[in-house]
Amino acid sequence: MDHFPVFMAVAGRRIVLSGGGEAALAKLRLILKTTAHVTVIAADADPQIAAWAQARRLTLLPRAMEPGDAMCAVLFYAANEDDAEDARVAALAHRDGARVNIVDNLADSQFITPAIVDRDPVVVAIGTEGAAPVLARRIKRDLEERLPADLGLLARIGKTFRTAADVLPMGVKRRDFWTAFYERVGPQAVAAGGADAVRPALQRLLDATLHAAPKQGRVDLVGAGPGDPDLLTLKARKALDVADVVIYDRLVSRPILELARREAVMIDAGKEGFGPGMPQEQIQALMVEHASQGAHVVRLKSGDPTVFGRLDEELAALDAAGIAWSIVPGITAASAAVATLGQSLTRRGRNASVRFMTGHDTAGFADHDWKALARPGEVAAIYMGKRAARFLQGRLLMHGADPATPVTVVENASRPDQRVLPTVLADLEPTLTEAGMDGPALMLLGLAPRAALAVTADLTREEFA
Ligand code: SAH
Repeated sequence: MDHFPVFMAVAGRRIVLSGGGEAALAKLRLILKTTAHVTVIAADADPQIAAWAQARRLTLLPRAMEPGDAMCAVLFYAANEDDAEDARVAALAHRDGARVNIVDNLADSQFITPAIVDRDPVVVAIGTEGAAPVLARRIKRDLEERLPADLGLLARIGKTFRTAADVLPMGVKRRDFWTAFYERVGPQAVAAGGADAVRPALQRLLDATLHAAPKQGRVDLVGAGPGDPDLLTLKARKALDVADVVIYDRLVSRPILELARREAVMIDAGKEGFGPGMPQEQIQALMVEHASQGAHVVRLKSGDPTVFGRLDEELAALDAAGIAWSIVPGITAASAAVATLGQSLTRRGRNASVRFMTGHDTAGFADHDWKALARPGEVAAIYMGKRAARFLQGRLLMHGADPATPVTVVENASRPDQRVLPTVLADLEPTLTEAGMDGPALMLLGLAPRAALAVTADLTREEFA
């Protein structure tokens, strides 16, 4: 981040702009939304600027800029659409102590103006550091559609009600009050009776909240998918939006954690599969503790929570404590990994079943029906298989598996650093160790990448595209 976003206090302060053409107009349309004193310096000002001056929305100095014109200004815009003149006025403004922006000149500007979505007092600023104005415009359009037009009205009335709402205890209850107002009660009141209906509705909501029974906590056991945030379910996103507490495993990716409500308490359970981390009992105790206090807990697990996630132990703990829960499925690593190969997990005439198996469990390397797995055409998705690879390889060969059986290892499936390692059973080790994978990896026994994709032994994501 080369530019740090802040909201600057400009009420009653000066903003000065030099220029009178198109570029000046575009900036002025934004600046005039503020309560600053705006001065425009332009020898040849557009009629619209003259009209604004007439209407006293700004002060127009119909001449070239002189030293002292930007005195006491908080912000200064050079918008002459002329490099030499912009450089001259910027130098003057610098001397007057103003922060300077030169339109369309990122390098010489001390600040940049974001695209904004205006629901005053709710303002969303979007910046791309000059890299992608097209993207900023698209995000702006999306947000314009998503934020109701009367949000500004609700926020203004809400602001005058803040002190009254302070009778509610800080935390869950107060937050729920405001959520109910902005999402439900406020919009309904405006629709039914206009702006005048909002305050009485707030008062009724406050009374109802004050006398409501204490909130019941709950736990959602949510699948975070393999890592790509686009592979989250809508339900998972909604749960993250409202969570008071998020308890997450180590494999849950950073971009997904970023989606959690900003005020949510984030707890790292540090666990990878059956690997080390916070003891299972402690995770369970934490879920119970927070939910018992009325919190909405999201227990975020990588992939699908029902696959190698010790879900039953957590459900048993919640049941024992009488806490309500629900399971939100996610995309399991096997689905994400096989998608990158251009293959399917089952195929008519090849395999009518597929196994999800683990390389090791709490007791060590896991035992399986090796004889069945060794049959030609068998397909298995092996989780937590890296360390057990040599063991698996040995067992399968010993039970008569064809040494040429394809095995493909997909590391970091669906993430930007995804790697695909196609090999055969006889070479699985030492190929896997030599590849030095340190991310989560899923092994697909019996599947090779579709012929057209298997160009190199180390396919990257780009090569698939
Ligand atoms: N519940 C998870 C599995 C947890 S066990 C799921 O449904 O996917 C942890 C194992 O999952 C890892 O050891 C690895 O084998 C696999 N895994 C999880 N995320 C992965 C990813 N992005 N790419 C490849 N394998 C992954």
